[in-house]
Amino acid sequence: MSGGRDGAALLNADRGLASEPRLLLGGPIATEIRAGLAEDFAAFKARWGKVPTLAIVLVGADAPSAVYLQQILRSCQKVGVDGRLVEIGGDVTPDAVCEQIERLNADPSVAGIIVQMPLPSHISLRTVIDSIDPAKDIDGIHPRNAGLLSLGYDGFLPATAQASVEILKRSGIEIAGKRVVVVGRSNVVGKPAALLLIREHGTVTVLHSRTRDLGHHTRDAEILVVAAGKPGLITGEMLSPGAVVVDVGINVVPDGAGGEKLVGDVDFDSARGVVSAITPVPGGVGPLTNALLLSHLLQAATDQEARR
Ligand code: NAP
Repeated sequence: MSGGRDGAALLNADRGLASEPRLLLGGPIATEIRAGLAEDFAAFKARWGKVPTLAIVLVGADAPSAVYLQQILRSCQKVGVDGRLVEIGGDVTPDAVCEQIERLNADPSVAGIIVQMPLPSHISLRTVIDSIDPAKDIDGIHPRNAGLLSLGYDGFLPATAQASVEILKRSGIEIAGKRVVVVGRSNVVGKPAALLLIREHGTVTVLHSRTRDLGHHTRDAEILVVAAGKPGLITGEMLSPGAVVVDVGINVVPDGAGGEKLVGDVDFDSARGVVSAITPVPGGVGPLTNALLLSHLLQAATDQEARR
């Protein structure tokens, strides 16, 4: 399949599609959400006399998350929230991590807690997740919030999974009744995204690393959400003409000029000749994730103040 711009245009033209797919951009949606949040956090401050704190727990200095951390701290600043980085050395015991989280649970200035992944291998993810107060678990990783989602009740949603669905809804793409395929079944992205898409009345199939003949399933998708963490996993010939693609993957790969660049899990050049709409990487789901996380922080802070 041709990967060039002209090839993409020709393929789409042959199929009666627009010459270039619609790009589903997260940035403008995130800017709109943040503008509303800045006002809401100002009103919160006027009402309660303080700004809520988002605690970001980072265990181990070498976690490959520096870029993400800077982004979330900048987002906090933009909406008038106090972002607090809580750095814990990588050689700590699991108990010490849980004690630190319990201190944040008890701190009335902290409204939300997120824990940066991955954790050092000697620290059990389950133990750390269980120690977060569900009322402060604004990225929806605690079993209580995950359970609420699976039952279709209100709770904190994992922000990336929510962003992958929200970008469709806010772009006016109908989900109800569509054949929706999700690639990836992690607890933080694929599985919650699938549950949210079921909630939106999609007919959802979930694929994973043991799925046989991935392309057989992806070609059936009217909407494809990909969260596998494998650059170029999905190519144009694995897509059905006119499909809508949400690429959640964020992968750092060599840029061919001695540097590095970010790419998704979908091979954009071969996909764009086939699909009707696609999220770019970077600039698609990513920007929306932080904005949604901060909207969860507002909810958490408001609930906590109302209960005091
Ligand atoms: P993860 O925990 O590694 O899960 C990856 C999932 O993909 C697993 O369910 C795995 O299947 C499946 N998978 C892996 N290789 C596959 C293959 N060849 N065919 C089919 N399925 C395959 O990753 P994650 O935390 O869900 O993250 C997924 C991607 O999203 C990553 O690129 C990550 O960087 C990105 N991400 C983006 C944002 C954002 O804001 N945009 C936020 C978080 C994560 P098994 O279950 O069988 O192993």
